[in-house]
Formats: sequence, structure tokens, C-alpha cells
Amino acid sequence: MWPFSTAWRGGPRTARIDAPRIHVRGDGRRVTARVAGRDVWFESADAPLAGSGEAFGTALLIPAMRAGRSLTVDGPVCATWATNLGPLTAAFRDLWYPDAPAPRVTPEPRATPPGSATALCFSGGVDAFHTLLAGGRPVDTLVYVAGYDVKLADSGRLAAVERLLREVAASSHSGSVVVSSNLRRHPLVRATPWRREFGAALAAVGHVLAPEVGRLLISSDGLGFEHPEVGSRPSTDPLFGSATLAVEHVAPGTTRLEKLRAIGGDPLVQRHLRVCWHNVDGKTNCGRCEKCLRTMLMLDVCGTLGHFPGFDHGRHLIEAVDALPEVDGVVAPFYRDLLAAGLTGPAAASVRRLVDRSVAEAPRPRRRGGQPLRPARHRLLGPEAFAHVCGPLVGRKVGYVRPVGNVGDHLIELAMTQLFSIYGIDWSPVNLDAGPRAREGLDLLVFGGGGNMGTRYECNHDLRSRALATGLPVVILPQSFTTAEDRPFERVHVRERGSLAWCPSGILAPDLALGLAWPEPPPADRELGLYLRRDQERGGRRPLLARDPVRLAATPADYLAFAARHRRIITDRLHFAVAGLHAGRDVTLVANDYHKNRSMHETWLADLGCRFAESAAAALRPGRRAA
Ligand SMILES: [Zn+2]
Repeated sequence: MWPFSTAWRGGPRTARIDAPRIHVRGDGRRVTARVAGRDVWFESADAPLAGSGEAFGTALLIPAMRAGRSLTVDGPVCATWATNLGPLTAAFRDLWYPDAPAPRVTPEPRATPPGSATALCFSGGVDAFHTLLAGGRPVDTLVYVAGYDVKLADSGRLAAVERLLREVAASSHSGSVVVSSNLRRHPLVRATPWRREFGAALAAVGHVLAPEVGRLLISSDGLGFEHPEVGSRPSTDPLFGSATLAVEHVAPGTTRLEKLRAIGGDPLVQRHLRVCWHNVDGKTNCGRCEKCLRTMLMLDVCGTLGHFPGFDHGRHLIEAVDALPEVDGVVAPFYRDLLAAGLTGPAAASVRRLVDRSVAEAPRPRRRGGQPLRPARHRLLGPEAFAHVCGPLVGRKVGYVRPVGNVGDHLIELAMTQLFSIYGIDWSPVNLDAGPRAREGLDLLVFGGGGNMGTRYECNHDLRSRALATGLPVVILPQSFTTAEDRPFERVHVRERGSLAWCPSGILAPDLALGLAWPEPPPADRELGLYLRRDQERGGRRPLLARDPVRLAATPADYLAFAARHRRIITDRLHFAVAGLHAGRDVTLVANDYHKNRSMHETWLADLGCRFAESAAAALRPGRRAA
């Protein structure tokens, strides 16, 4: 072992990486390493993979530092890579994690010849297209990582990106490699802001592909300067390399706008540019999210917006920019660039309004008593994740119809009130018994989120009948379907993929409770909480002593506080599980009697660190926690 620092008395906790294993799976190979008790893997059918400890060490360095753990790699690693850990650790301590312990590795000189190929990380965005077409470097292979910007479960979206990758590769006479990885599901990675981690995560894939790849190109983010919150940097990306892998950070001084000017006239870019992370109606770019709108504004300044069929010629662009709640400090410079580049007219006015209402640049992390400050309010998903639900309600007078429900449904409602306020939605609760006068002036009704679409819960089905009978358009907030309910709603949001079978036209959107902002709770004072429902949705047999958590809390605040008291939670109550996740607890969601919990887990909660079990008994089985 070769510790870079011996300042630790008693020693910090470690994030241990076991020696990677390689196995054949179907057409491809998978390299897996156990990292702090959980498997992380990379898989590809397109290229040979290396069982590289450096790959996992690269991917986990920043997450281990964030967690205050000492990264420990089992087995020898490349001496060059090991030496680079010193300046890398110093850089990330200086930026974010001043008290992070040093990694511990065993260096060994490497004599293997490097691979000969140059690979470019490519997901169809402006920066990678710029490197490919104007970067001045020959590119042999385009590499896309499934599971990084698109979730592994989103097979439709991944298939579309893979198609794009293969087509662009064919047109540019390069090869293409798709690597899949579950890295982002690892709890240490999940707890790390992705914008700090993604450069290392990409470099890790270079190490995995090292049998053939000797040089990995990572395109700069287009800010044109080293933003303190962004982890892919010209000063640190190359240090993730080894004796056999060079990692290059391309065009750090070039802004996104300059890149678009250089490549916006290329038909290949016009046909394939993909900037959007959402998946709306199977479109490559949704045309509504912040990133789509920002790109459209840039194309507008460059005079090429009309050549990009994917952006619908910028229809409704100004209204959509006005509907954005705010932009954060990392993204704000792009908008200032737009104004500086001569954006004019109503578009410039809407950008100025957006910059004015947005937060100031993200502050550097500060310390109190040696500890990094934790955020006072915690969110599982940011407000931008709800743009497709909230955006279309902006500027309309909304009447809210409250479903019949329990404290879990009230948690959804609490999150809704926060999100509506962030988006500036003009809304009020409406009582359908109070006659037409109570609805005067309303443009539409929204029916609250939950799990009661279909005919199973009669009172809510009736409530929707009465909402439709008012003649006002009715929008359904993210819901689960128990059976089909094909009625003339204006829009229906479903909160998990399983419900799309009952409602194929539904728009997939997260349960609003995942967008709740809530203060960090005090530490847990109980170990395990096993809480199971006692109603008709109960799946399987109920262990004798388990109680139903909805009977133990009267308000959403009580519910959140009660969940936070437990270090570990096993429950089939979906929103009790969500409450536990908000508190950062170890949560296992147990199946209910229809697809809801299983599908919620697969669609959103797995990525937020939640475990899943088919039954409470399975969740309690010894050895299960390591799974
Ligand atoms: Zn979009």
C-alpha cells in the first residue's frame, strides 16, 4: 500500500475496490468490480474490455472523496496513474472536499503497449460534434455510454441514441462502440453531483477500452472557462490517464456558441444534433427543456435555427423561455454569452428576464468546524425534472381537484404546491360541490397525483367524472393506473412505465413527491423500520408485527420526520419509501399487489438509491443488504 498521506490517526473509512472480474455475457463481455460492497460493471458487445482497476479507481475517486472515504484499489495499478492521483486529489480537495482522505493504491510499472485507436466520447451534442468535425484530431471510434445521460431502463431512448451514434459514425467513417454501465446507480456516485463526476466517469470508460484505445477525447463543456462546479477540466482530465491511456480535454477555451458557429452549417449536425435528456413523444430534442431552448437561442443567433428540423423552427420559443423558472449558476454564463453575442428583439428580452430571475452564480462550498456544509433543503429531483408537467400550466388559471387519499397523497400535494410556486403557476383549490360560481375564471382543472386512475378506487373515479362534467379541460398530474380509464382528459401524466400499458398516450413524468424540497433531518435514532400496508393493495402475507405507516402520521411533515428516524426502512408504502429516500436512509421498497411499486422502482427509484424486494420476507433475508 502506498498512502499519499499519513495524517490520519486511526484511519478514515475506505471505499474499497476489489479486483475486477471479466465474464462473457451473450454477445459481449462485462467487467465487474465490487465497490464498497456493491457491484459496478461496464459491458460492451463492440470492443474487448480490460479488467482495469484504474477504470474503477478513476470512476470512484471523486465520489469517495465526497463521502470522506479513502479510495483503496485491490491489486497493483499503473504507476503513472497512481502518481497522478496526488495532484488529482489536491485539485478536488481545493475545489470541493478539503478534508478528503488520500487514496491508497499499490503502483506497479506497466510494460504493455498502449492501444492504437483514438476514441471520442460522443452522445450527439454540440461539444462532441465540434471535436469530431472541427477538433483537428483524427478520430477512429465514437464511444457512447448507456446509463450515463440516459438511464439503462430507458430502452427506447437508448435505442434511438445508438441509432444516432451508428449513423454519425458511418457518415464520418469512424467506428462506434456502445458501453453500458450501472456506475450511476452506485450509492457513492449517486450522492455526488453528476457535473462534478462525469469527466472521471468518461475517463473510466477509456481505461475499460484500453486494449484498443490509447487516446480518449473528452470535449470541453463549452463554457470557455473552468467553472468551479464542473469536474471535467483541462487541468484534471489528462491526470485520469495512465502509461497506456492518454486522456485529452478538447477545446477548453472555445464557447458553445463559437462551436455552433463552426459546425451549425454541416448537414450531419443539422440531421443528428441531440442536446436533450428528456424523452418526450420519442423526439430526439423535446424543444421545451432548458437545454433545448438554450440551444435553439444559440442557433437563432447563428442564423441556422431554420436548418434544424428537430427544433420545429423555434415555434413558441419566447413563451417557452418565459416559462422556465430559473437557471443555475453553471448554465447562466451561456445566457450571458447569448446577450453578448448580439441576440436581439423579443428573444433577447426573454433571456434578460430569465437571467434576472435566476440565482446568482453557485457559491464555493464553505466550511464550518472543518466539515463541508450540507445543503439545508434536500431534493431527490430538481424542479427542471417537472418541466413537462408544470410548463404547460404557466399562464393559465388552474383549479386544483384534490383526490381522496391518505398522508402519502398529501405529501404529493405538498410537493405540488412547492413546484407550482417555483414555476409561478396561478392556482387555487376548487370544490366541485360548490357550483359553477366557484369555477368562474378558471382555464382548466388539474386532478392531483397518486395511484388511483382506473376504476379500482371508485370515489376518485367519480371525482374525475364530475371534473369532466364541468366542461373545463382536465389535466391529470402524475398517476398510476390500476385499470384502463380512457376518457377525454386534456393531458394525462403517468408516473411509471408500467402504467403506459393501461394508458399508452400518457406522458411519463416523475411522481411530484420526488421534487419536494425538505430540510435535512436530524440523525436516525432507530435501526430497522418494517412498515407494511393493511389495505387491499397489500401484496403477500403480512408479518405479524408490522404496522401501516399511514396510521402513524397525520401530516406530511410527521410522515417525513417518522421515516427519518430509521436508519433502514422496509416498506410497501410507496411514499413512506420516498420519505425515507428524502432523509437519505437505506430504503427497500416491497412489491404491492399490482405493478405500481415495481415499476416506480424501475423507472425512478433505483437511480435514487432505493432497493427493491418482491416481499418483506425477501427484504429481511440475511445477506440481502449486500445485493
Ligand atoms: Zn429538451
